[in-house]
Amino acid sequence: MATEIGTTARPLRVAIIGAGPSGYYAAGALIDRDDLHVAVDIFDRLPTPFGLVRYGVAPDHPKIKSVIRVYEKYSLSPQVRFFGNVEFGTDVSHDDLRRFYDLVIYAYGSSSDRKLGIPGEELRGAYSATDFVGWYNSHPDYADLTFDLPSARTAVVVGNGNVAMDVVRTLAESMDVLDKTDMADYALDVLRQSKLEKIYMLGRRGPVQAAFTNPELRELGEIEVADVVVPPQELELDPFSQKELEQDKDAAKNMDTLRKYAQQPLMGKSRQIVLKFLTSPVELIGSDGHVSALKIERNELRPNASGALQARGTGVYDTLPVDIIFRAIGYKGLPVPGVPYDERSGTIPNDKGRVKDAKSGALVSGEYVVGWAKRGPTGIIGTNKQDAAETVAMAVADVPALIPVADADADPKAAEAFIKARKP
Ligand code: NAP
Repeated sequence: MATEIGTTARPLRVAIIGAGPSGYYAAGALIDRDDLHVAVDIFDRLPTPFGLVRYGVAPDHPKIKSVIRVYEKYSLSPQVRFFGNVEFGTDVSHDDLRRFYDLVIYAYGSSSDRKLGIPGEELRGAYSATDFVGWYNSHPDYADLTFDLPSARTAVVVGNGNVAMDVVRTLAESMDVLDKTDMADYALDVLRQSKLEKIYMLGRRGPVQAAFTNPELRELGEIEVADVVVPPQELELDPFSQKELEQDKDAAKNMDTLRKYAQQPLMGKSRQIVLKFLTSPVELIGSDGHVSALKIERNELRPNASGALQARGTGVYDTLPVDIIFRAIGYKGLPVPGVPYDERSGTIPNDKGRVKDAKSGALVSGEYVVGWAKRGPTGIIGTNKQDAAETVAMAVADVPALIPVADADADPKAAEAFIKARKP
């Protein structure tokens, strides 16, 4: 007789790869079920759990980080174990996991970031926002990086998302505010030496298409040491954007805030945050190997075949003198051996969280995906709760058809001994 899995006698053995929000919400959705008994092992390549909540959320947003309490509650469940400092794909392989776990859930997010792909990106002074955010949040991979802040007067942040907002705010904010956060001490020491006067934020599309949310936009106006400058011509809308604005409440809120910024007089504060839209960086110009200027092109918007408005260069160029530049144009998932991968989206191909083979599209039994690895790098922390619930519902529905792992390997001690042997 086949072993019945998901009972107290033989709990469903689940491995979750990635200890960020999506991984913990998946664990929570599993252990909260009354009809299934589970034993969940969460793996992370870092020694500490909570992923981007710990290493991505801006230090001046402590309330957002308080969601960690929910994940701690799940961690304390006797049904959940955490294996830190174990890298999937290096320390344990896909096949190793399939040996010890009936069901595997990938929750490893999007570990890389997109490049601008323009000449000069390799110059000193050109940085990725991902690196900068990891650095000021004490992420062990980024702690040794250096940023030329003490010698810079003008910075550019490319991108119109909330990561770009976090970077702009961190660059512009006063030390009175930053010193009260849990930012890394070494980062505070560097930011204390900053002589930045001007911070440009560049959006390749218009204000209506900006990806940042309204609370983040309003926060810029609350920075005591910085004026927010929005040249009124930046808010002139083409007919396509005007139509989009009428149907998008979030964009309308942003436009209201931007119009207020455009009308308010400058207060002569020590820093300026200048918002420019319909602007793409096209080349970084260097001097002695370091960024010294940025060539930008004015864009216009045109609908693509599916009706979405896309930026198109107009051939009108300008040059901004720049000392440092941060690209904040989105994260990207990387492939892991043995796991299907869609190169175009940087995600694991899936149907509502059920992993699919990249070529044939056939479902891969016992393998599931949640979070950014599932849907791409979008959404706030809370988005992952619904996302994980959807995947877990699919996984639970599939349990009767799963092929259980061998009895000897189903013992939690077997997996633990194996992992310890691989990564003592
Ligand atoms: P995002 O929201 O997708 O924004 C990416 C931005 O980069 C967009 O404005 C995009 O413009 C632009 N972009 C992409 N490629 C570009 C290029 N080649 N040149 C110029 N601009 C380019 O991504 P994100 O800021 O990395 O944030 C990721 C997710 O985390 C988002 O869902 C975000 O809301 C969330 N997050 C939330 C918070 C918070 O709640 N406080 C904080 C941080 C992050 P297009 O629109 O034209 O593509």
